[in-house]
Amino acid sequence: KFADTAMYKAKDEGRDNYQFYASDMTALAFERVVMESSLRVALKEDQFVVYFQPQFNIVENKITGMEALVRWQHPQIGLVPPGKFIPIAEESGLIIEIDKIVMKKAMECFASWYQEGLNPGKLALNLAMKQLAQKDFIPQLLNEMHTMGFEPSWLALEVTEGQIMNNPKASIKKLNQISDIGIELAIDDFGTGYSSLAYLKKLPLDKLKIDQSFVRDIDVDEDDAAITKAIIALGKSLNMQLIAEGVETVDQRDFLLKNGCENIQGFLYSKPLPAEKIKELLKS
Ligand code: C2E
Ligand code: MG
Ligand code: MG
Repeated sequence: KFADTAMYKAKDEGRDNYQFYASDMTALAFERVVMESSLRVALKEDQFVVYFQPQFNIVENKITGMEALVRWQHPQIGLVPPGKFIPIAEESGLIIEIDKIVMKKAMECFASWYQEGLNPGKLALNLAMKQLAQKDFIPQLLNEMHTMGFEPSWLALEVTEGQIMNNPKASIKKLNQISDIGIELAIDDFGTGYSSLAYLKKLPLDKLKIDQSFVRDIDVDEDDAAITKAIIALGKSLNMQLIAEGVETVDQRDFLLKNGCENIQGFLYSKPLPAEKIKELLKS
């Protein structure tokens, strides 16, 4: 059992290495098992809720869309942020079920807002490549869109750079099928992984999201400023729209605008909010 635990740790570290067993590994493994079984309960008891964070075009001064962000409403602990459970959900495969629920709930909100004459823009969903790779993903999505009266042009899918580049050949094929339906594709957390530029230009990506880790110190750290400018130039030359994540201050916003990034998502404009609050925002 101990050897098995050490093997898991070695795999976690990215394979091609070795690990000796230590007692804290058992505690971690135990935590993981507990977490996984609570996630199964959460699925059964419908404990996942969807928050939305508006995305703004600061030149046109309007909301262009909303990113759906999952939260776990735990009966004892309260609201659990995704960073605490998404990694385990991904590892165990439960992410597929969780994301199906998030997708359905978020799409229902958008369909009802559009029906009421509100304009929330595009719904951005975070999806694991694992999810897109499911055989029935596209037929199910089309079916749900049809039932809800949800237009393909209302939808944007965010896939992380790391997941796309894990298997770029398979990604190109899958993403092309999705893009052909008229759904927008965005590459999330750009700059944090290793991108093949040769693949980047072959992928049907519409939008590039500049990661929060560069935006954070953009106005004080010369390297972050230089990297951000380079990402903006790259995005523009590949004909992609640009959006910066995690914008918290006016200085960060001004830097981005001055350097050609008009789209902003961050606490400066709005935190992620529950559906009722978003509806109020759209009405006002
Ligand atoms: P992400 O897709 O890059 O989402 C942006 C994260 O940045 C969100 O964290 C958001 O709350 C946070 N954020 C936005 N503006 C600011 C800001 O101005 N300052 C700071 N400090 N943070 C800001 P959140 O909601 O905790 O989500 C974390 C990550 O979990 C997401 O990163 C995404 O990768 C993943 N995630 C969230 N919801 C889902 C989901 O439904 N499915 C999947 N597969 N992953 C999800
Ligand atoms: Mg995202
Ligand atoms: Mg991101």
